[in-house]
Amino acid sequence: MEKRGSVLMQKYQFGKLLGQGNFAKVYHARDLRTGESVAIKVIDKEKILKFGLEDQTKREISIMKLVKHPNVLQLYEVLATKTKIYFIIEYAKGGELFSRLAKGRLPEDKARKYFQQLISAIDFCHSRGVYHRDLKPENLLLDENGDLKVADFGLSALVESCCHDSMLHTVCGTPAYVAPEVLSRKGYDGAKADVWSCGVILFVLLAGHLPFNDLNLMSLYRKIGRAEYRCPNWFSVEVRRLLARILNPNPDTRISTAKIFGNSWFRKGFKPKFGQVKREATNVALVDSDQAFGLCENASAAVEADQALIKPTHFNAFDIISLSAGLDLSGLFAGNVEPEDIKFTFMSSASSIMSTMEDIARVLRMEIFKKDGGLLKLERSREGRKEPLSIDAELFEVTPSFHLVEMRKSCGDALEYQKILKEDLRPALKDIVGVWQGEQHLQ
Ligand code: AMP
Repeated sequence: MEKRGSVLMQKYQFGKLLGQGNFAKVYHARDLRTGESVAIKVIDKEKILKFGLEDQTKREISIMKLVKHPNVLQLYEVLATKTKIYFIIEYAKGGELFSRLAKGRLPEDKARKYFQQLISAIDFCHSRGVYHRDLKPENLLLDENGDLKVADFGLSALVESCCHDSMLHTVCGTPAYVAPEVLSRKGYDGAKADVWSCGVILFVLLAGHLPFNDLNLMSLYRKIGRAEYRCPNWFSVEVRRLLARILNPNPDTRISTAKIFGNSWFRKGFKPKFGQVKREATNVALVDSDQAFGLCENASAAVEADQALIKPTHFNAFDIISLSAGLDLSGLFAGNVEPEDIKFTFMSSASSIMSTMEDIARVLRMEIFKKDGGLLKLERSREGRKEPLSIDAELFEVTPSFHLVEMRKSCGDALEYQKILKEDLRPALKDIVGVWQGEQHLQ
């Protein structure tokens, strides 16, 4: 539980709890630099590991990075401590769309507006190869202007993994929005399955109740499988026709988003809004592989909360996540870790790391040279015709008492280097190194 009023990394002040999902708590927070409201989704790393959701978390980060659309909640930034991941997300001030339905069904024009925005968001995501697969009322939020914002793109993977058997969907929510081919587990096209869910949502907006409902789960499945629903008498002929094409149990002949855009009922008053999103998601861009391990001016860093993250200097959250024991997100940075690169963290000051490295150099009978910018060179003198081994060790400050050392061979024999890492360096650093990365190369 995040304490109201507490400040996250000198940037965001926590407000009230907005909601709670299966894996996360969502809080309102204020960006202290701009005064703007944001939502912070807090995920326990331990839970992610316990449920084996590491891959899905990586997936969510990369998916949210891909999707920037006015009707999709934007991911601004990802921060991390050793135990938690914080997703800083656009705040949807208007709350859940379906809470509006508590007052009754919506007039056709209003329902159409939300449906237009929903289809625009879905179509955009599909065009980027991203499928929601868990569209339901809780994921439809409204901003301060009453515009629709689809939440949880990417999280569908989490839901799916917790509900391996779609029968278990009731554990996470209702199967009422799920396409028949998903329920029958035949393998399905994510785009067509999302279209079905949009149809159910449109029906609910117009009717004020679900198209498929039954207390008995098997009967509910049967109704969905046969698309047995009845439109209330206030549904116009046009909308009935469109719904029949969407709630078609055969995904092959079900209408596509492209065809929905051409539908005359849908097009009424449609103003596509691909305007700009509120602000650039600068830190999110840091997951790009070429930047992930670079030094980034505006990046954030985090270590254990009790270390209070004194003054983050060079690191972004992804670096820290990837270095945190047990949750290695380095897959996001594919291509960054050379087989000969190793990285490790020191929970100590730069001067004590220097003296440790000097001790190690002495043991290895190597000379140590200090270069600018925290670079150390360890060199072995030439023996015979062999090229002398030279190792670069670069020191990065995360906080004054937390450093990352990146080590690589700059020249010489690879086998000799590996042997030194395994037999000398690793044992010498055993007690002082916090986290190792690239250690598989040392086993
Ligand atoms: P989730 O775990 O994403 O399903 O979030 C749980 C609940 O928190 C949602 O159903 C919303 O009521 C609320 N919520 C989630 N994200 C936001 C947001 N960005 N802005 C406002 N409320 C949110």
